[in-house]
Amino acid sequence: MRLETSYADFKEAAAKEGVSWDKVLYTGAMDEYFDYKLGHLEYRSLRFETEYIEDTDNYQGNAVVNYTEGEIPYTRIIEHRHFAFNKTAKGTVITREYPAEWKPGTEPYYPMGDEKNLALFAKYKELADKETDVFFGGRLGLYKYLDMDKIIKEALEFSKQH
Ligand SMILES: Cc1cc2nc3c(=O)[nH]c(=O)nc-3n(C[C@H](O)[C@H](O)[C@H](O)COP(=O)(O)OP(=O)(O)OC[C@H]3O[C@@H](n4cnc5c(N)ncnc54)[C@H](O)[C@@H]3O)c2cc1C
Repeated sequence: MRLETSYADFKEAAAKEGVSWDKVLYTGAMDEYFDYKLGHLEYRSLRFETEYIEDTDNYQGNAVVNYTEGEIPYTRIIEHRHFAFNKTAKGTVITREYPAEWKPGTEPYYPMGDEKNLALFAKYKELADKETDVFFGGRLGLYKYLDMDKIIKEALEFSKQH
């Protein structure tokens, strides 16, 4: 097992070391797999601002509060302590999430479900279907926004089929 290693680097190292495999489940972005030869798929991105607040141990009473008003620049605040069982720590840590422009090379967050990107994904999918030993899965490999429950269902169905 190799952590912090991209699939491309792993493949290169494996070729040098003579390591081989029968099947690959690739959960990265499909355009990255094909070295962006048809162009970049686009994403909606985010910027996170994290703050430690010393003088309260309960900032918003909940793990997640969404803000939909146009005049508020962030879309949600996460208060991490509400996800944890141990709530004895002093103070609290919150993260504000701001919409941000995505550029190639930055973290791909939410796939864009628009016509242009879906048409490009369909072209990549044609290439992917020709790969015999690689399966594409997950939110990046399928280029779909999938919540945790949906992705677990996809994974269970995939494991039954293969
Ligand atoms: C900002 C954000 C907020 C979300 N909030 C929620 C929420 O509140 N509730 C909810 O249910 N779901 C939420 N989701 C969705 C949830 O994160 C996904 O459903 C889940 O993570 C999908 O799992 P996955 O395995 O498909 O993808 P990921 O969790 O993205 O895992 C993909 C894995 O592949 C690895 N990888 C990618 N590219 C390469 C590469 N080239 N080489 C090697 N490894 C690679 C990554 O490092 C990662 O480990 C959110 C997603 C995002 C982006």
